[in-house]
Amino acid sequence: MENRDKNAIPVREDLLTRPLYPLEEVRLVGSRCGDCNEVMLGKTLSCSNCAGENMTEIPLSKTGKLWTYTIIRHRPPGQYRGPDPFVPFAEGLVELPDGIRVLSVLDCDIEKVKIGMDLELLVHELYTNGQGQTVVAFKFKAAE
Ligand SMILES: [Zn+2]
Repeated sequence: MENRDKNAIPVREDLLTRPLYPLEEVRLVGSRCGDCNEVMLGKTLSCSNCAGENMTEIPLSKTGKLWTYTIIRHRPPGQYRGPDPFVPFAEGLVELPDGIRVLSVLDCDIEKVKIGMDLELLVHELYTNGQGQTVVAFKFKAAE
């Protein structure tokens, strides 16, 4: 378990809580501004709303509601890590009770995606990089 964690990295630094295993216990990291109360995704040193530096790191809620979404029907440019050949998928803004909307891939049938649907965080292994490290990412799936 410990070795697994040493060989894993988050897809973006300061985005996920540590340790990365078990994956089910990982949460998204947010930062709350002590001056204006704005919540941001990831660990940040200053507030993007008021430029204050009174930031506190908080684990974000694992559940949210779909605020809006789009269906991606063409392979995104750059280093896309999804299935090959490309399969269309949904991407949406997930509104968390913490007062933040997070852009995320939605792991559900694109015919069943609905604004307002209940979603929950799904932390998963995305791929293995050139150094043999497991890259851990997140998406949201329909809540059970
Ligand atoms: Zn602020």
